[in-house]
Amino acid sequence: MADTTDIDTLLQECRAHGLKATENLRAVLAALAEGVRAEGMRHPDVEELRRAVEARGHRIALASVYRIVAQLTRVGIVETHHFETGKSRYELAKGQTHDHLVDIDTGDILDFHDAAMDEIEERVAARLGYRIVRRRVELYAVRMEPRATLPITVDGGEGEAN
Ligand SMILES: [Zn+2]
Repeated sequence: MADTTDIDTLLQECRAHGLKATENLRAVLAALAEGVRAEGMRHPDVEELRRAVEARGHRIALASVYRIVAQLTRVGIVETHHFETGKSRYELAKGQTHDHLVDIDTGDILDFHDAAMDEIEERVAARLGYRIVRRRVELYAVRMEPRATLPITVDGGEGEAN
């Protein structure tokens, strides 16, 4: 699993898996690595990835982007996500595993990790007689309205007491 965004290290890993280190491959890796650092571009679909590659001054056919992300996914350098939003989305497979929250209004995808959730999942699996080897948690959510804009009930009927 790649736990780096360094292009030369990633290319080395590609070669170790028998992939040819073409200019296209380098450009796609660079765009993905840049996405890791840029909020909002962490999980591009194939068209967004192509635009990111071309924004770096490298012309590439959409079919080539498809082929490269498929190869990178096969060797475990890229993770392909199939969120309910439709299109496949890609990100570099990183050492730190994380879960995703999808904003169903905007399509934004947020990475998060909560050790308490891991613990609960492990406990549940163990109770059922299993050990978790892979997990995939996707939360589909809408942004909460700021408290200040919620209607204020005069008779206290909102049931806030916990
Ligand atoms: Zn992610």
